[in-house]
Amino acid sequence: MYLIFRCDCGRVLYSKEGVATRKCVCGKSLKMKERRIFRKVDTSEDASEAVREMQEEIYGSTTFEKASELSQRKSSRKGFF
Ligand SMILES: [Zn+2]
Repeated sequence: MYLIFRCDCGRVLYSKEGVATRKCVCGKSLKMKERRIFRKVDTSEDASEAVREMQEEIYGSTTFEKASELSQRKSSRKGFF
C-alpha cells in the first residue's frame, strides 16, 4: 500500500505505507503521521499516477495527455476522496 500526501511546499508525494518519514525534493523531512493522506493505492505505478493526477488538478494539466483519456481513467478508479 502506498500513501499519497502533500508537502507544505505544495508538491504531491507518495510513500510506501509504514515509512515514518519522507523527504521532499524541497529538502523538508515530512513525518507521515502528521500528514493528511489524500489517497491510498496498491502499487507504486498507481502511486506515481495518482501523484501526477493530483499535480494536474492543483497546477493544471501540463502533460501531453488528452483530457478525454484522463476522464476515462478517473471514472474507472475507486476514489479515496
Ligand atoms: Zn516540499
